[in-house]
Amino acid sequence: MLEGCTAWPGNLAARYRREGYWADITLNDMLAGAIRKAPDRTALVQGERRMSYAELGEAVEHLALALNDLGLRPLDRVVFQLPNSIEFVIAFFALLRIGVIPVLALPAHRREEISHFVAHAEAVGYVVPDIWHGFDYRQLAAEISAQAPSLHHVLVLGEPGLEQVSLNRLLAGERRHDGLTFHASPEEVALMLLSGGTTGLPKMIPRTHNDYVYNCRQSGAVAGFQSSSVLLALLPMAHNYTLGCPGVLGVLARGGTAVLASDMTFETVARLIEEERVSTICATVPLIVNWLNAAPQRRDFSSLRVVMNGGAKLAPELRRRVELRFGCVFQESFGTGEGLLNMTRRDDPAEIRFTSSGRPVSPGDEIRIIDSEGNDVPDGTAGELCCRGPYTMRGYYKAPDKTRDAFTDDGFYRMGDLVRRVDGNLYVEGRLKDIINRGGEKISCEEVENYILSHPKVKNACVVAMPDAKFGEKACAFVIPVDDASIDLEEMNRFLLSRDIAKFKLPERLELVREFPLSPAGKILRRELRRIAADPTVSSGNAP
Ligand code: AMP
Repeated sequence: MLEGCTAWPGNLAARYRREGYWADITLNDMLAGAIRKAPDRTALVQGERRMSYAELGEAVEHLALALNDLGLRPLDRVVFQLPNSIEFVIAFFALLRIGVIPVLALPAHRREEISHFVAHAEAVGYVVPDIWHGFDYRQLAAEISAQAPSLHHVLVLGEPGLEQVSLNRLLAGERRHDGLTFHASPEEVALMLLSGGTTGLPKMIPRTHNDYVYNCRQSGAVAGFQSSSVLLALLPMAHNYTLGCPGVLGVLARGGTAVLASDMTFETVARLIEEERVSTICATVPLIVNWLNAAPQRRDFSSLRVVMNGGAKLAPELRRRVELRFGCVFQESFGTGEGLLNMTRRDDPAEIRFTSSGRPVSPGDEIRIIDSEGNDVPDGTAGELCCRGPYTMRGYYKAPDKTRDAFTDDGFYRMGDLVRRVDGNLYVEGRLKDIINRGGEKISCEEVENYILSHPKVKNACVVAMPDAKFGEKACAFVIPVDDASIDLEEMNRFLLSRDIAKFKLPERLELVREFPLSPAGKILRRELRRIAADPTVSSGNAP
């Protein structure tokens, strides 16, 4: 296995094989199976473009050869930052085909995050679009290349910059199928996801072929995917949820169709449901809130079977309204890039569908719910959710200390969520980790605090979640300024943007205070700050 990654212990690996969770195939084998079964079926749709399984398979093989010619080799890491597109899927599978490991960055990430990913993964390549949503990624790539000794290949979808390679050129030309004899080991790392974690910049989550094939197939089974399924993919595919839970890979595993949406308005979504006969939509809280508040559309939704929500909890009333508006079943998905996925089942009674966070998708998932001493709590009592299983990672990439903190002694991953279990179903009650869940997008409080602390007018900073009707939560920054200096949100955010970080991390409220509430042990009482942030009428009381 790639150095810096942790394999499953032998006894568990043997069990996962014996019980059929690990099929000992690669993600490419999984795709090849679908190609063999129905080569002419449509795999991908993007606007006017449609690509069959056979065409997808040929494009992957062709690009894999070209990437191999370029000098990319098995176990090389490549930071992969493409927006949703047919090329995303082709390039993703082409990298895996030659054993190269994509590190899936979000289109929103900027220099601070990308240079960290490149350095930590010692990436040899960086894959970007030319310009997307007004941002020139070629420029970013040039800046990063200048400072990253490991980075030899910048691949650009669209018009490349100086010393950058055109992905379009590699994709064009006579189809080649010759010569690729390489076959990755199913036990090897296939891709790396980014953690929505609490400490500093995102950690990397190695996912093996065996575990991710199972992740896609099993969550696809629970979502009811069949060869006739049509998934509408809306959110960035770099997210585990849209990539493989069950996501685009899950529908391709079944020989279904993934439709890549151009935008996420209700108008577009409703049009695509009708035109493409969409059967499954995987959405998040802010999208669903928008759609429920948008003007109704006169469209035919009869093809729709499931609208899923993931990334953050959707309120029961909104789940009920989803079923009414779309005339389909609502499914809640509560999972993590580190592994464990819980889903409500399509045939659960309404009470469960509307209130629960679901239950593990696999019989191989082992769950522990523990108190602060590490003891298991009885059913019905809230505790920290810990999990172990055939698709839950055993360690972060090259981060032994963080891995140690994230696991119990018996190898259960501590999710940091406070849950209750009743009749096998989980109910998310709160959270122990210091993150802000902005409609599914995770913001590490510590990371943003660090940026704020580098402002010359700031003595101390604490970032907490404040409630928001649309996103669930947003970031509120409490700041103790130096010498009673004054600073407002606009100035702070201009400063933060100049640090080249993803925009979604910016605080949306700033409170200047003289001191933080402290516990007797001198720890900042974040709970107290969250309470202040939750009430717009309550002032922190000690503003300078
Ligand atoms: P990530 O690994 O970035 O996907 O984030 C995983 C975390 O998102 C979980 O540990 C939860 O805190 C939160 N989360 C994801 N889905 C849900 C959900 N349906 N309900 C509540 N929290 C969720």
